[in-house]
Amino acid sequence: MYDYDLVVIGSGPGGQKAAIAAAKLDRRVAVVERPEMLGGVCVNTGTIPSKTLREAILYLTGVDQREIYGQSYRVKDDITVADLTARTRHVVSRESDVVRSQLARNRVTILQGTGYFVGPHSIEIDDGGRTRKVTADKVVIATGTRPARPASVEFDERTIIDSDGIVNLEAMACEAAVVATATGGIPEVVDDGVTGLLVPYDPVEQGASGEVGPADPAQFARDIAERVNILVADPARAAAMGRAGRRRVIERFNWEGAARRTIEVYESVTR
Ligand SMILES: Cc1cc2nc3c(=O)[nH]c(=O)nc-3n(C[C@H](O)[C@H](O)[C@H](O)COP(=O)(O)OP(=O)(O)OC[C@H]3O[C@@H](n4cnc5c(N)ncnc54)[C@H](O)[C@@H]3O)c2cc1C
Repeated sequence: MYDYDLVVIGSGPGGQKAAIAAAKLDRRVAVVERPEMLGGVCVNTGTIPSKTLREAILYLTGVDQREIYGQSYRVKDDITVADLTARTRHVVSRESDVVRSQLARNRVTILQGTGYFVGPHSIEIDDGGRTRKVTADKVVIATGTRPARPASVEFDERTIIDSDGIVNLEAMACEAAVVATATGGIPEVVDDGVTGLLVPYDPVEQGASGEVGPADPAQFARDIAERVNILVADPARAAAMGRAGRRRVIERFNWEGAARRTIEVYESVTR
């Protein structure tokens, strides 16, 4: 006899739905999730925080309320990154509570920690050194994704961050020359040769895993290193690029501009 009929590893949208569907069929269900991650990437580092940041900018600049209160209306004059993260953390914690109570209402047990298979039906759960073992007839692996981190880049969570880091950002780097991959919307933000240096990127699917990466990883790493070295060897050029980058951000990517562009996008999709 197993401890549970079903154990789900991961409490993102996929794991939650699997657990609740099984519980509604009267199965004994548990979800394994890491501390501070209930609700998955969706609630904690992806969908909800990214959209909350966007909505916080709209709210704090007051741009979307000016038709009612007049053109000079704004909620806060000096919007800081701390204002945005405080609001984001508040929403994330509320949404995580919603997931917790939804699982509880459906009698799904939450087992906190990182789960590892130790047998076909056995999972060990490590909660910061304290371990426990549970058994289950069936296991759903709903462990989602994580941001790609090439080995050639040292992420320090201050000046070099990924989409997880941006949620906990404490300070925006100012007047920094940027070396960035020429992909997605990045060439729109980094003006090649003016505010930084772009690295050519030719993505291909890599192996059976389906992960996408540079066609020639060794060449890609050399291209990054070459551009970083150009800036390190010429501090005056790097400083001029940093200043140009800051001017460009103030002119084109200020909070007010971001809020206006967001409203334009909303209007274009609801028209
Ligand atoms: C910045 C960003 C913005 C996004 N915006 C949108 C959007 O606007 N709209 C949209 O539809 N999608 C968006 N997404 C994508 C969306 O977040 C994902 O598609 C969705 O969260 C995937 O759900 P999931 O259940 O597969 O896994 P996840 O939400 O990734 O959850 C997996 C969970 O498994 C846990 N886990 C992993 N390994 C273990 C283990 N060994 N033991 C215990 N727990 C483990 C992780 O901690 C995590 O909580 C965005 C993603 C990001 C990063």
